[in-house]
Amino acid sequence: MKSEIQHNFIGYFQFFYRVLRIRFLFDLFLSTCVSFLDGIGLAMFIPLLQSMDSSGQPSSGHSMGKLQFLMDFFTKLNIPLNIYTVLVLLLILFVLKGVLKFFQLNSQVSLKQKFIKDIRYELTDDLQALSYNGFLKQNAGKIQNIITAEVQKLQVALNHYLNSISAVAMLITYVIMAFLANWQFALLVALGSVLTNLLFSRFVKAVKSASFKISSKGNAFNSHLIEAVHFFKYLKATNRFGGFSKKIKGVIEETEELNRQIGYYQAITASIREPMVMFIVVAVIIVQIRWMDGNLGSVMLSLLLFYRALSFLMNYQNWWQSFLQNIGAIQSVSALSKEMKAEKEVFSDRVYKGFTSSIEIRNLQFKYGENTVLNNVDLSIPKNHTIALVGESGSGKTTLANIITGILPIAGGTFTIDGVSVTDYNTDTIRSTIGYISQEPVIFKDNVFNNVTFWAEPTEENVKRFWEVIERASLSDFVNSLSDQENTNIGDKGMLISGGQKQRISIARELYKNAEVLILDEATSALDSETELFIQKNIEKLQGNYTIIIIAHRLSTIKKADKIYMLEKGRVSYSGTFDELTEKSSRFKRMVSLQQI
Ligand code: ADP
Repeated sequence: MKSEIQHNFIGYFQFFYRVLRIRFLFDLFLSTCVSFLDGIGLAMFIPLLQSMDSSGQPSSGHSMGKLQFLMDFFTKLNIPLNIYTVLVLLLILFVLKGVLKFFQLNSQVSLKQKFIKDIRYELTDDLQALSYNGFLKQNAGKIQNIITAEVQKLQVALNHYLNSISAVAMLITYVIMAFLANWQFALLVALGSVLTNLLFSRFVKAVKSASFKISSKGNAFNSHLIEAVHFFKYLKATNRFGGFSKKIKGVIEETEELNRQIGYYQAITASIREPMVMFIVVAVIIVQIRWMDGNLGSVMLSLLLFYRALSFLMNYQNWWQSFLQNIGAIQSVSALSKEMKAEKEVFSDRVYKGFTSSIEIRNLQFKYGENTVLNNVDLSIPKNHTIALVGESGSGKTTLANIITGILPIAGGTFTIDGVSVTDYNTDTIRSTIGYISQEPVIFKDNVFNNVTFWAEPTEENVKRFWEVIERASLSDFVNSLSDQENTNIGDKGMLISGGQKQRISIARELYKNAEVLILDEATSALDSETELFIQKNIEKLQGNYTIIIIAHRLSTIKKADKIYMLEKGRVSYSGTFDELTEKSSRFKRMVSLQQI
């Protein structure tokens, strides 16, 4: 999807074509066929019937202009032209049109579904491929609004666009008929369409701009809504919900005001259409009678063809305006897709298969914008060792962990695994071996089993492994106490389980994954001392079997780490074992005594 959409018929055509390809053209072909059948059915047979005199025989038909060839065609085929054959042909044509219409509408249903599916697939892929840095620049409400509501609007837009094209096909059919019957017609129809388009262009512009604004309001609305849900407890407990609701209601108000404006323009254009058509039709009849020696026959023919042509012109404008109400979605969906693609992670091909020696970071530099967050950091993580990162809040511990998972790229220095630069690998293959337990536990809206196994098949072997890790994460009592044991849903109700339980489930998930490197980011901070001690013991049991990186405020958890790195303002100020650091660093010593270890 490109975001530089030309905002006109062709530009939108290209947008839909890029997603739907040949199926889009096929639909347009079908819809044109239906239009032509309709056109031939009515535009041809009405004048044909009309041109027959009361005896049921064709008259000389001079009022039909070049459409006379139709009658010659039937004469050639030896079809006797009388009122009955004409009526039978009329029926056949419309049955044929009905059959085609069915195929068209039916294929349109799958076309629309494929359209939504392809766009959502693409956006989901874009989101998956998005780098963490790119993600930090995005806004959750916007992403959510676009992938749900805006894509839905896009489907409505596609619908209106297809209807517009049908109307255009009809219009063209009638213009051609009109041109064949009487060339002056074609000119008058063209004039009529230019005039109405001019008249409507102001409204069209206003509707377009309102549509863009509505899309961005939708993003804001979703962002606020997500915040209201996310910070529900805070807003409730501090009685700030009222103020926040006002903000949300403000956005609702503005959106509805824009919708009202669009409705107002639509009311104007819808109500002036008919009188306008009548004005033109009356003018045409007068011109024909006074200046073009029109007889009643040719006036009737003109009236019918012209009226129908103009009706489809109006129809087209109607659909087009409805389409325009939704084009904000084309803009926002393409823009988001483009933004995400621009921030896509790029990987090398080499597949990572685990390491044998060590992870080495040398002279590491990292910046957030202009702000140097890590400077000159050296870190050595031998396989199956446990290292710990300590330091005050803001000293760069989380950033360093993010670099180790590869979600933040280094700005300087080297980062190698067994001597191979990390950038030489497909980073995702490294991440498959990483277990990450973050400060905010990750709990999915599903049962405990799926949360821990990440939707593994509940085979005997998997269930056995599940219970093993549940035991190791000291969760057995908890899971057994649940109404449905491992099949109990958490997630939504997960709001009701304690922070410590959530954290233990997160730990169990990484143990189940059999990660090679475990990163525990303040992972035990939400645990009570007793559970923490239990887990700490378990982590100690894991020591030596896993490579573990612990980011800890509580120094008790890292007493047995092989090496502790003390970070101060983005630099490693000291490193060594717990005892060495207590000796070397007065700051560490103070932290230890404050925590009474
Ligand atoms: P710690 O984990 O030790 O508390 P962090 O690694 O989270 O520290 O943060 C280190 C520094 O990086 C802080 O000064 C923080 O302000 C800055 N920082 C963290 N995340 C971002 C971000 N997304 N954008 C800009 N600066 C950030």
